[in-house]
Amino acid sequence: MKTTILGYPRIGKERELKRVSEAYWADKTNQKKLLETGRHIRKENWLLQKNTGIDSIPSNDFSFYDQVLDTCLSVGCIPKRYDKLKHGNQLDLYFAMARGIQNKEIDCTAMEMTKWFDTNYHYIVPEFEKEQTFEFFSTKIIEEYKEALELGIKTKPVLIGPVTFLLLGKEKEEGFHRLSLLEKLLPVYLEIIEQLTLLDVEYIQFDEPCLALNLNEQERDAIKFTYKKISTKFPNLKVFLANYFDCYGDNLNTALQLPIDTIHLDLVRCPLQLNDILESKHYNTNTKLSLGLVDGRNIWKNNFDDSLQTIKSVISKIGEENIWISTSCSLLHCPYDLDLETNESNLSTEIKQWLAFSKQKLQEIRTLKGLASSNYNEFEEEFKDNKIAHVNRKASSLIHNEKVKNRVLALNNTDSQRKSTFKNRQTKQKLALNLPLFPTTTIGSFPQTKEVRSWRSKFKKGILSQVEYDSLIARETKDSIRFQEETGIDVLVHGEFERNDMVEYFGERLNGFAFSSFGWVQSYGSRCVKPPILFGDVSREHEMTVKWSAYAQSLTDLPVKGMLTGPVTILQWSFVRNDQPRQVTCNQIALAIRDEVVDLESNGIKIIQIDEPAIREGLPLRQEAWNKYLDWAVNAFRISASGVKDETQIHTHMCYSEFNDIINNIAAMDADVITIETSRSEMELLDAFVDFKYPNEIGPGVYDIHSPRVPSVKEIEHLLIKAKNVLPKEHIWVNPDCGLKTRDWPETKTALKNLVKAAKQLREREMEIA
Ligand code: GLN
Ligand code: ZN
Repeated sequence: MKTTILGYPRIGKERELKRVSEAYWADKTNQKKLLETGRHIRKENWLLQKNTGIDSIPSNDFSFYDQVLDTCLSVGCIPKRYDKLKHGNQLDLYFAMARGIQNKEIDCTAMEMTKWFDTNYHYIVPEFEKEQTFEFFSTKIIEEYKEALELGIKTKPVLIGPVTFLLLGKEKEEGFHRLSLLEKLLPVYLEIIEQLTLLDVEYIQFDEPCLALNLNEQERDAIKFTYKKISTKFPNLKVFLANYFDCYGDNLNTALQLPIDTIHLDLVRCPLQLNDILESKHYNTNTKLSLGLVDGRNIWKNNFDDSLQTIKSVISKIGEENIWISTSCSLLHCPYDLDLETNESNLSTEIKQWLAFSKQKLQEIRTLKGLASSNYNEFEEEFKDNKIAHVNRKASSLIHNEKVKNRVLALNNTDSQRKSTFKNRQTKQKLALNLPLFPTTTIGSFPQTKEVRSWRSKFKKGILSQVEYDSLIARETKDSIRFQEETGIDVLVHGEFERNDMVEYFGERLNGFAFSSFGWVQSYGSRCVKPPILFGDVSREHEMTVKWSAYAQSLTDLPVKGMLTGPVTILQWSFVRNDQPRQVTCNQIALAIRDEVVDLESNGIKIIQIDEPAIREGLPLRQEAWNKYLDWAVNAFRISASGVKDETQIHTHMCYSEFNDIINNIAAMDADVITIETSRSEMELLDAFVDFKYPNEIGPGVYDIHSPRVPSVKEIEHLLIKAKNVLPKEHIWVNPDCGLKTRDWPETKTALKNLVKAAKQLREREMEIA
């Protein structure tokens, strides 16, 4: 039996890679320093794994930006617009591809970025053209293998498999399918493998997570073709094939028949596949199984008791020598080290006892191996502690709240049902709110200036008192209300100045959430996030947003929209408890948000927005699982929105989404108004709503908030007319794509003035016609 992991976090335990890369980009440090930091992080990670007793340690899991971009460079898949940089410094070419480049000589956009499967990590999307060629371009993988050799470690290099690499990319011109490039790509992979075998490599890990998706016959054939080719050319090479984030599903038979040494299983996401495999007639017991038992996506301690049972049952069928114990996927998605959470940490000792971050997970793997093989005694103590931690967690009064559990159990259909149909509500709302045609509004946040952020950090450090902090926030809120009134916006917002982050703000005010001090995970490039830890039953003791919303409303006669984050988004952007179905946890959050909605209403707020930007990214990888998820996710939103009277208008907001394939579910959310991001696509994203004849009101974004550019009145009008040509005019709202928190005030002010002007012109024209 051997231990391994699929990859380790690489941003550095103190996020040193983030700091040094950002300094390098800002020209505040040199490349030597950057390279040194990379080398240091790799060394630290390798030695840690070695000292913990990991038998097969990955290399090439390190990256200065992203592992897919690394692969692009390895195989020379470099879009033509960067040609000028190809013969210069490779790292600068690499960053230009990741981040775009603009100087006197060259002006190129960055490559596109998108979510890595169902994680919150973003990868760079490979670009392919019809006459695409490949070459062995960057030798990073070889160099890092050698670097580890020098430390006395013979690593298992990790490569994104050629089929996954192609499928994750995009054709940049018509007339071909990217999979047809396999024949040209494969020789470069063979060259890389050859170089590695010359250095006496034993194992190579090929990540083919496309096997967790619905593949067609041709795509499966590509997998067969690839691994047949590799094994024919390198009969002595041991291929470790990794799929993760879901079952092999329909692709299982394909995977089982490949001429490979090891097949890796994500047993956290898909425990049941183990039996399917052991019983499959296609499974040849000479193929080793890598049991991905330790969760690479979440922060809970492994349950040794359960894992041991699994391991032992596999041993009895295929023997110890055919088993790997490993993480479910790369630890990239886990924070570094729980030991960094010292006594001053936000995490209590009781909660810490239930957790394992990456470093702790390495030890878990080592312990599982120990417990499952002959040196049981050596690890007995750890086994005992693990059992105690699980017993404690199960019984902890921090986690369990009977009132909440019962409230979820008692939920019934009327709880997720507004009192009347949309048509009836619309009539009552038009009367109650008396808004003009094409009402204008914003999505919630206004610029979070350095100053505003400094107040929050001073308040946290105790330099500002609660009273002082509140009065600053009040002043900023008041200014924003005045600005909106002067600009002529119809539905105002308070500005969200009191909020750090749209999930953290609510997590900090709800029972059931904890926050680490150093639990960072990479989101993209140098960007890291620190997701809240949702450990227990969720309940709301006090109002969370009423104070600021009511204050803002007291300053004006115009309606001020209340602003909440929806249950699915809170769930999606947290580390979620694994001791009950996500659906139950989501319903608990939904009830807490519902109470807040009702409180806002009874405090005079007539319009309430419940943001759900993350609803689409929660979709399971396989389509056959979509409906189940969408049913409970939509229902949770409805629970949160359905406690109010007909006159109260519920908005929702979503960004970065494609709506086509889930439009009926979005309609089923039954929000009175939905605002979406459409400006970049020139209203293309609106098509789904139009084709579907979306019944409720809709605000297609007309101002791209991801750019400092100010749209002109004409541009906004142009977009609005596009919308007006396809939607009933009484249904159209006028608003930016998303919140304005990342923008500066001057550009925000001008853009919103233009937006109001465009809406007014359109309104006047309509009245003339009438
Ligand atoms: N209300 C939030 C804001 O305006 C919405 C953010 C989002 O959709 N990502 O910032
Ligand atoms: Zn948004």
